[in-house]
Order: sequence, then C-alpha cells, then structure tokens
Amino acid sequence: MSAPSTRRVRVALVGSGPAGLTAAIYLARANLAPLVLSGVPSGGQLMLTTDVENFPGFPEGIQGPELIERMHQQAERFGAEFVDENVTSVDLQRRPFALHLGSGQVVEAEAVIVATGANARWLDLPSEQRLRGHGVSACATCDGFFFKGKHVVTIGGGDSAMEEALFLTKFADHVTVIHRRSELRASRIMQARARAHPKISFLLDTEVVEVLGQETVTGLKIKDLRNGAVRELPAQGLFLAIGHVPATEAFRGHLDLDAKGYLKTHETTRTSVEGVFAAGDVYDHRYRQAITAAGLGCMAALDAEKFLAEAAAPKASHA
Ligand code: NAP
Repeated sequence: MSAPSTRRVRVALVGSGPAGLTAAIYLARANLAPLVLSGVPSGGQLMLTTDVENFPGFPEGIQGPELIERMHQQAERFGAEFVDENVTSVDLQRRPFALHLGSGQVVEAEAVIVATGANARWLDLPSEQRLRGHGVSACATCDGFFFKGKHVVTIGGGDSAMEEALFLTKFADHVTVIHRRSELRASRIMQARARAHPKISFLLDTEVVEVLGQETVTGLKIKDLRNGAVRELPAQGLFLAIGHVPATEAFRGHLDLDAKGYLKTHETTRTSVEGVFAAGDVYDHRYRQAITAAGLGCMAALDAEKFLAEAAAPKASHA
C-alpha cells in the first residue's frame, strides 16, 4: 500500500461557512496562502437558507448560497486554496499539526482554524430516522417544494422553526408548529410574523412521540404534555428545527469540548492547543449569526497570523 500523500501549509482552515471564509479572506490578504478544507457539503448553514435580510451591506437581502459564493470568490481572489474534503482525524500533539482527510491525504499545518459549525439536531426517534428523506427533513428550504398542497409540521419554538414554518407556507396548505413548552423562544418579530400567518397554527406543550407511515410520512403521534393525552395528527411532512449539534467529532479527545460538544475557547478564539483557533458556531452557541460567525472568523485569522509571526520570530537570547 502506498503511503498517503502529505502536503505542508502555513495555515489550514477547517470549514467553509462565513467563519471559515472570512478567516480565509484575512489570511489570504496577509499573504499566508491559507488552505481551506471546505468539508462536504461545503458552505455551512447559509447554503440551506434562502433570504438573508440581516447581513449588513445587502439592503435588498441576499440568498444564503450567493453570500457564501461571494465570500468564496473574495478569498480565492487573494490566494486562498480550497479542497472539498472532510477532516476525519487530527494529530495536534505534534508540530506541524496533522489533519487527515477523507481521501487519505494528510495536510500538515503550522496553525489551524476550526470553523466546522454545527449541524441540525434530530429527535432521534427510530420512526423519524427511518423516514428521513421520505417526509422527514431538517431543511425546509431544501425540501419544502415537495410538499405542495400538503399539511406539514415544524417542530421547535426558536427563530428557525418560525422561519421554516413561514417558508413552508409557500408550498403547504397548512403548517402546524409543535413546541414542547407554552412559550416560544423565537424573537418577537419572527413570532409575530408566524402568528399572523393564516396558514400557520400552533400546538404548544406538545411533543412528537412517533412518526407514522411506512413508505412516507402519513401522520404523527403527539402527546399533550399538560395531561399526557396521546393522539394522532395527520400530516405528510415533518420538519425539524430544534437546534444544532456542533461538528466537533474529529477533534474529540484532541481539543477541550464543553458538555454539549462545543469547542472551549479562551481569549476569544484560542482553543486548548496553542496554534489551534476556533471561529463561528463551532464554539459560539449564543449568537449563531452569519455576521457574528464572520466576525469571529476575522478574529481567529488575526490571532493565527500573530501566532505564526511570533513562532517565526528569532527567539531572544538569554545568554
Ligand atoms: P434555538 O433558538 O436553540 O431553538 C431550538 C428550539 O427547539 C427551542 O424552542 C427548543 O425548545 C426546541 N428543542 C430543542 N431540542 C428539542 C427536542 N429534543 N425536542 C423538542 N424541541 C426541542 O435554535 P434555532 O431556532 O435554530 O436558532 C438558533 C440561533 O439562530 C438563535 O440565536 C436564533 O435567533 C438564530 N436564528 C435567527 C434567524 C433570523 O433571525 N431570521 C433565523 C434562524 C435562526 P425550548 O425552547 O424548550 O428549549
């Protein structure tokens, strides 16, 4: 068996959402020729979004994938290189750091920025997992089109659930939002929009206990959490919008993680290993906006640049 090919770079970025791409723009402009390990699929959660109305500089709004494409082009223009691969394992004990890719290739880097983001959370019901792609989805913008004239259910009480429910009204006859508490978590403006929509209704204090259907979704078994009563709700689609899980699996055991699996950082972007920095939703579970991820990407790039400059500087002699 031939040895895996190895290439060496000064700085590698893992992830290609707004955090990774902003870091790439800054590092490329600092002449550090960053290598972006984009991940598959690449582009992060904005790739699953339609209208982005709150990213500064786009008064008319912009489509999520277009915003990502523009950032990508901007990074490439200054010399960032992109490889559409996932990092499957890492060795951060050695210097340079080693990043193992899905293809078997190894990337050695003097500094690393982890910007792998977070992925959709599932209820983890066996029936839900069996019907994924057959009526169960975590992406309304990807799959909403298939539910023309149907009744669909969105689960969650946050902004994502409101956004998904509103988006689904473009296709579905009716959208029911199911939430486990009596209060929604979503911002007032999103709640108000969803509540005012004639096609949207709410089932609060309610939990989905089973997804019904053999080949495709035909309904849900739902439980009223106030009295324990279980009943069936006919529906042809189920959209999960119950938050996210950080994409840190490849770094488990190599970098400190918190109880929920998010990267732990100090002095904003520094991880538990010197020379490895974090940016975006992979550690920020509080703000989770494209603009905050981009800002953190900028900060991680500046920190990585400083780290590389200091590592390259001649050591002061104490003789
Ligand atoms: P989120 O705010 O964390 O909300 C997740 C929702 O799912 C919560 O209502 C939670 O219930 C519920 N949930 C979690 N686990 C559950 C489970 N196992 N079963 C049932 N329900 C469960 O997540 P998000 O809505 O994805 O939003 C994330 C961040 O992005 C937020 O800061 C949000 O403001 C932002 N965002 C903004 C926009 C926008 O401005 N257009 C759009 C999307 C997202 P509890 O409330 O009971 O915890």
